[in-house]
Amino acid sequence: MTSILWLRRDLRRGDHPALAAAHADGPVLPLFVLDPAFFDDAGEPRQAWLAHTLRALDEAYEGRLCLRYGTPEQVVPELATEVVARSVHVSAETEPDGAARDARVQEALGQRDIAWVATGSPYAVAPGRIRNQQGNPYRVFTPFCRAWREHGWRPPASEPRGLTLHRAESDDAAWRKLDAAATASGVPALPPAGEQAARSRWREFLDEGLAGYATDRDRPDLDGTSRLSPYLKFGVLHPRTLLADLPGRPPRSANAFGTELAWREFYADVVHHHPDSLWHDLRPELSGLAYDAESDLVDAWRTGHTGYPLVDAGMRQLLAIGWMHNRVRMVTASFLAKDLHIWWPVGARHFLQHLIDGDPASNNHGWQWVAGTGTDAAPYFRIFNPVEQGKKFDPNGDYVRRWIPELRQLSGAAVHEPWRSADGYAGGYPERIVDHAEQRAVALERLAMARNAG
Ligand code: FAD
Repeated sequence: MTSILWLRRDLRRGDHPALAAAHADGPVLPLFVLDPAFFDDAGEPRQAWLAHTLRALDEAYEGRLCLRYGTPEQVVPELATEVVARSVHVSAETEPDGAARDARVQEALGQRDIAWVATGSPYAVAPGRIRNQQGNPYRVFTPFCRAWREHGWRPPASEPRGLTLHRAESDDAAWRKLDAAATASGVPALPPAGEQAARSRWREFLDEGLAGYATDRDRPDLDGTSRLSPYLKFGVLHPRTLLADLPGRPPRSANAFGTELAWREFYADVVHHHPDSLWHDLRPELSGLAYDAESDLVDAWRTGHTGYPLVDAGMRQLLAIGWMHNRVRMVTASFLAKDLHIWWPVGARHFLQHLIDGDPASNNHGWQWVAGTGTDAAPYFRIFNPVEQGKKFDPNGDYVRRWIPELRQLSGAAVHEPWRSADGYAGGYPERIVDHAEQRAVALERLAMARNAG
């Protein structure tokens, strides 16, 4: 009897426990539902990235990926009835909207007597599993990470032998919608899509990048990180696949890389326990913090025209390639929250519109961490100085020059302070929209007031 494998954040064929479980039930029909509720919200760059990823997925499944358009609670039971499937297999979804959607689909399937089978999740350890000795979830990263490592994870799943793939008609209009998204004008240059591309990027990073990761990962001018986040976003690779390759590699860097994967798991865990924290402050203490209203200053931030070179380079990198280096994500987020005094969801929304790796848990909690409303254990005094950060992490100014042509006449670290060079503004670069030292003092004052009132 046919079983449906409904693919969502697991767009791969390798290391796929839900595929193995579906195969154990009979011939497998791989399905992707183009759900307008999710797709329309994604922002053009991520829509294009998904479109390319799905084309590659169809190839990996030998041209048998069934693509349907519509609400999953309608599409999935209808297809199951059409192909006389007895079970629908998924990797469990843990984010609030996806989990609510799954509950609706499961109920609709139950009414038709079709089994719902969830195997695995997009994480090495499913959110909700890691608890402290009192049985409570962790609110702070370091102890979570320790407990996560102690808990451990399963080895990668092997590919099922003798897999038979079932075929069902796809919705042509859905493919056309995806193809239009893939070729829309203004879509940034995207990395190569699909599992093979992801695995070869991982092998390249293992051989050439990982050894230097512990020292280079904070340097946006170097290609020092894995660049795997767009693949992890849609589950083209599973983190377990990566974790399994780390033993035997240079320990300091392998450990640092595992820790970064743990941040992804931590934020998913926090969202699992506090679904409202996706769009509301996790810490109630700062709920009275005074924010400014959106103004032209926010537009200057969005387009990379604040007059602070590292901030502008990051914001322009985001618009150009749908990705930004982690250090620069922190600096640009801090600038919006602490220099422009804007509530973090405004920035989180902009990032989610443009990031191809845009992931609500990592993004919104990355924002909350920087804003001080989230999981940072010492949140009140952390204000990034965009100039000092530039000089420290882009010491030769190469990153800034790459993204800001108006500053290319300046050599070395001089790009971080165009106001100090006679020809600093010769290329038409804008002057600073605010004074960092002044705004830092304002931010500290507002934080102190909110804490005293809270
Ligand atoms: P690597 O350094 O190679 O790390 C390997 C993997 O570990 C990443 O692919 C990612 O899955 C995970 N990881 C690394 N750092 C973090 C972190 N701080 N938090 C969570 N996971 C992490 N990451 C996203 O995947 N999606 C987002 O939407 C997102 N938004 C962010 C917003 C802000 C304000 C901040 C500060 C961080 C955000 N991050 C987000 C985390 C991080 O910036 C990216 O995961 C990282 O830059 C991706 O590049 P990489 O794959 O080369 O990372």
